[in-house]
Amino acid sequence: MPAKGVLVAVTADVVIAGGGVIGTAIAWRAAAAGLDVVLADPAYGDAASLVAAGMLAPVSEALFGEGALLRVNLLALARFPSFAAELEQVTGHRVGLRREGTLAVAFDAGDYAALTRLTAFRRSAGLEAEELDSRACRKLESFLTPDVHGGVLFPGDWSVDNRRYAAALREAAASAGVRVVRDRVTAVLTAGGADARVRGVALAESSEIGSDRVVVAAGSWSGAVHGLPAGLRSAVRPVKGQLLRLRHPDGMPPVLTHTIRATVRGADVYLVPRADGEVIVGATQEERGPDLTVTAGAVHDLLHDAMSVLPVTSELILAETCAGLRPGTPDNGPIVGDAGPGGLLLATGHYRNGILMSAATADAAVACLTGRAPAPEWEPFGPGRFLTRQGER
Ligand SMILES: Cc1cc2nc3c(=O)[nH]c(=O)nc-3n(C[C@H](O)[C@H](O)[C@H](O)COP(=O)(O)OP(=O)(O)OC[C@H]3O[C@@H](n4cnc5c(N)ncnc54)[C@H](O)[C@@H]3O)c2cc1C
Repeated sequence: MPAKGVLVAVTADVVIAGGGVIGTAIAWRAAAAGLDVVLADPAYGDAASLVAAGMLAPVSEALFGEGALLRVNLLALARFPSFAAELEQVTGHRVGLRREGTLAVAFDAGDYAALTRLTAFRRSAGLEAEELDSRACRKLESFLTPDVHGGVLFPGDWSVDNRRYAAALREAAASAGVRVVRDRVTAVLTAGGADARVRGVALAESSEIGSDRVVVAAGSWSGAVHGLPAGLRSAVRPVKGQLLRLRHPDGMPPVLTHTIRATVRGADVYLVPRADGEVIVGATQEERGPDLTVTAGAVHDLLHDAMSVLPVTSELILAETCAGLRPGTPDNGPIVGDAGPGGLLLATGHYRNGILMSAATADAAVACLTGRAPAPEWEPFGPGRFLTRQGER
């Protein structure tokens, strides 16, 4: 692997800018499909993908007005188990897939009314939901406070240990022959005037990489890559999320089985259990640009809300506080597909669901790279929707 600062002059069938779960999943599958792949990332493995909670939650993430997003999220969930199984088989590492479902709980009557409205919407979309009173919620999760007003079990949601998953993706990509360059892509290079096609990328600290196919998968930094059509450069913005990682003290039995999503007097908090005893508590949602600081207020609010529904949280060890940047878009949908100039592909803007969508995004990207059509669920999420809106076609 070339070190930072060393001049490289390489060529490849495809260059991928960005090595979060999206870029690395694409790199692995593209290499497995026989393409010669170079992945460029200045901080390989240091991104939103490692901060995330790892929920694979199309059902409890389904919101009013996001029907197309729900359809692509369901496609992504259906693809995830076989993708993860192949990853585990190739690397010999478990990625911690859990299928217990999400238990959404409401703290008071107002919270419950909001949950009931969302549940009706999710049922109308054909999603499974089981309404539970307070006692039934505590039968599923015995450490929940008796004050919980009621809840809904969404059995269709799963979760994965996103750090194990990201590490396994990196290993699988390496063993499939993906070459990694630790450098930042500054620009997509093109040739050919009106019928421009990509000819590679420029790097910040080394030379160029020559390639007639480039995938921009740089998460919330995607817009900083020169050479993208302007409407696309402004379409992705960072949405900050702060999150806590808790650990059980030695000898303490697990305090949770399901992912809990709670609404506590209008504020949302989730707790995601891992097989190794970790419990993730998240997350804030903040429009603060590329700020990665962890604030005392956020830690307080997350712990306060988590303890309101699961008082035993106070006995867990606060192992880590972290912040990450979700790549958000104006319509909350991802941007996946050919962008023009010819040979340029975007795979970014996965916002709250990039872990969930990673396997299906890799399929869609490899389909584009090999001249096939992606699954129809991706149609609403092409880059063209931002070009058209701004009259740049
Ligand atoms: C607090 C929080 C909780 C979340 N929870 C969940 C969840 O439960 N489930 C879920 O599905 N999703 C979740 N997400 C969202 C998910 O993390 C993202 O959608 C996903 O990680 C995006 O992956 P990515 O590969 O596009 O971006 P990233 O993981 O951010 O990776 C981008 C990579 O690009 C590199 N890069 C940047 N600029 C350049 C450049 N110019 N050239 C080359 N490389 C570059 C960076 O170094 C980085 O490695 C959460 C996010 C946050 C912040």
